Amino acid sequence: MAENSADILIVGAGIIGLAHAWVAAKAGRSVIVLERRAAAMGASIANFGLLWPIGQPAGRMFSLAMNSRDLWLEVLAAAKIPHRPTGSLHVACRDDEARVAQEFAALGPDFGYRCSWLDRNQALARSQALHPESLLGALWSETEIMVNPRETLRRIPQFLFERYGIQFLWNCPVLEIAHPNVRTTRGTFRGERVIVCPGADLETLYPDFAQQSGMALCKLQMLRTPPQPAGWELGAALAGGLTFRFYPSFGICPSLPALRDRIARETPEYDRFGIHTMVSQAPSGELTLGDSHEYGAQVSPFNREEVDALILRHIKSFIRVPDLTIAERWHGVYVKHPREPYVRFAPEAGVEVIAALGGAGMTLSFGVAAETFAGQCTEDAVHES
Ligand SMILES: Cc1cc2nc3c(=O)[nH]c(=O)nc-3n(C[C@H](O)[C@H](O)[C@H](O)COP(=O)(O)OP(=O)(O)OC[C@H]3O[C@@H](n4cnc5c(N)ncnc54)[C@H](O)[C@@H]3O)c2cc1C
Repeated sequence: MAENSADILIVGAGIIGLAHAWVAAKAGRSVIVLERRAAAMGASIANFGLLWPIGQPAGRMFSLAMNSRDLWLEVLAAAKIPHRPTGSLHVACRDDEARVAQEFAALGPDFGYRCSWLDRNQALARSQALHPESLLGALWSETEIMVNPRETLRRIPQFLFERYGIQFLWNCPVLEIAHPNVRTTRGTFRGERVIVCPGADLETLYPDFAQQSGMALCKLQMLRTPPQPAGWELGAALAGGLTFRFYPSFGICPSLPALRDRIARETPEYDRFGIHTMVSQAPSGELTLGDSHEYGAQVSPFNREEVDALILRHIKSFIRVPDLTIAERWHGVYVKHPREPYVRFAPEAGVEVIAALGGAGMTLSFGVAAETFAGQCTEDAVHES
């Protein structure tokens, strides 16, 4: 293969680009990744690092998330990247939250969710962070995993280069694609197949699609504590009762509308900023806290202190941890399609665009990549040796 040519050219070194690079390389394809920044800087490093199958609706999307989870575990082990396969708790502090959690615990296993209802003491045994005074119980799910997104997005490219010789061209913005040619600021590359994984920026390469598809940008405010004292562990990844109204999986619960109504009536400020609360812990000990959801055609660069205060207010209502001072604040941005869980389209033969994974791109990444190459990997190529 000539220099600057590969079987598979990938645009974007976020998690979707990396997942495609790994699946293609395992199938024996030569791969080049073109990334406009010096390192991944998009949503893939701004998130909680939660691999969260329980948030995906029953059926195709939950299966995709579980397949993705298996592939994640394989790549994390092969690349020796620290991670916490702790499972998760959706914490109930109000009767209506407990009702939804119990309904999901009863209905979920029939759809394949590995979950159950825990009473107060059982939940406390899964996470020492839970506030014993407000806690009624929790929905336990064993399938969730925590990674540190910043470290993971740095280490997967190293692993892909060392194990498969995948070339990464950093600081290499792609300006135009006309299959098989991909024009960049660093020359033209040729790919038998071009996979474009541009995150929230569809405008640069496909402005017409970006405008016509009805997709919206979403801004999410996030916070991070310093490392907790040595040895202190969060245990399971945590979601507060507000989260039941956020993930479509909980749509199977008959009591969900009543919970939504109560939250809208009592605390409309949470709805106004799309706030629900989650807590993850990086292997280095910091807690990541969030988040809010503000949708629009543009994203303001300015964070609202009011939003951070609301996130913290709700988090403090259900956790008690050694150090809840805030060491970092930021916002991330993703793009979301009004109807589809993600977007896959072919602007021309030989080119595919995969984008708009919304708030589930970490969870779904490897499953979506496996779908892209379905039928093109031999059984041997599917697992890391
Ligand atoms: C605050 C926040 C919290 C989240 N929490 C979670 C979570 O816990 N679990 C979960 O599953 N999901 C979560 N998500 C969603 C998840 O982070 C995203 O869906 C996912 O990271 C999207 O990955 P991506 O590769 O598509 O995009 P990105 O990470 O944005 O990567 C796209 C890359 O493409 C590059 N690029 C774009 N255009 C070009 C070009 N023309 N030339 C070269 N390079 C280009 C960009 O520089 C960028 O590096 C969260 C998102 C946010 C913002």
